[in-house]
Amino acid sequence: MSDWNHRHIIDLSTFSEEDYESVLELANRFRSIPTTGSRKLPALQGKLVVTLFFEPSTRTRSSFELAARSLSADVQSFSPSTSSLSKGETLLDTARTYVAMGADVLIVRHGSTNVPAQLAKALEKAGEQTAVLNGGDGLHSHPSQGLLDLYTLARYFSPNQPSPKALKKKKIVIVGDILHSRVARSNLWALTGCGADVILCGPPSLLPESFENFVDAPPPGQQIDLIPKRGKIQIKRTLEEALPGADAIMTLRLQKERMRQNLITNLYSYHNNYGINHERIKLCKKKVPVLHPGPVNRGVEMSSDLLDDKSISLVEEQVKNGIATRMALLYLIAAKDTTNQSK
Ligand code: ASP
Repeated sequence: MSDWNHRHIIDLSTFSEEDYESVLELANRFRSIPTTGSRKLPALQGKLVVTLFFEPSTRTRSSFELAARSLSADVQSFSPSTSSLSKGETLLDTARTYVAMGADVLIVRHGSTNVPAQLAKALEKAGEQTAVLNGGDGLHSHPSQGLLDLYTLARYFSPNQPSPKALKKKKIVIVGDILHSRVARSNLWALTGCGADVILCGPPSLLPESFENFVDAPPPGQQIDLIPKRGKIQIKRTLEEALPGADAIMTLRLQKERMRQNLITNLYSYHNNYGINHERIKLCKKKVPVLHPGPVNRGVEMSSDLLDDKSISLVEEQVKNGIATRMALLYLIAAKDTTNQSK
């Protein structure tokens, strides 16, 4: 495994090919060993992991907490509704309270873009060693989801050696509400970073043309892209154009809570145009897996019977792989001394 030099994990635009390799290699090791009950691994013994979630979550929060416990960390969970936030405490002061209690890792989810990045900066400025792991911020980034999706696809394409190389030249179709999806953005960095070509498919209201150039320039504050040659991104407006030749399909939830106006006329016509079902998959002309980050609106993004068809739907696999992937991330940022890590 190569050197790891990310002190925090905020987004995947700063990941190199070696970083993807390290995460997938470790996730695969953790996936193959039982780590429940008395069989926990000792890697994070004595470390405190705190989940600070300011937005609802089922999978991400539970998965991080199970991952941390499997590595023998102590876990503390923060709930905004029962906390002093309701008495006017700032988010930074809340975070610093947990740092003062000895938090080694803060896993932060927030409805606004950049909150985890700003928190990481503020803690560094204050001389704290606590690492920040982004559990999803606004529309910006959901790195652990992007990485677990990458691992799930690598395992599907190459069960014996699920490395980033398994993604090279694959054609992955991402369908639906790309505009409001931090999952899509993290997947765009991860998939193109591993050499996959991505076809984005959706109506203009949910998929602006600008997404075709999404990974073309390093994001603000970053000098160079660490990936020498990324896969390409293309936009298609219909599934009939997008699916032929696809190797995998990723569907996304319609994120109504993030839409400033009603962008969908009705769910029935959305499903008719962009919903994935057994019939639609035939357009790929071969057997392909279907992924969804959850939560799924049955019968909208995916037909209910497709979601339950385990020969095609990898949704439960994604959940299982989520724990192993998050163990890998916690291990990489907390199992060793982070004082020399800078990015
Ligand atoms: N669970 C994912 C997220 O937090 C996807 C979704 O909510 O649709 O972004």
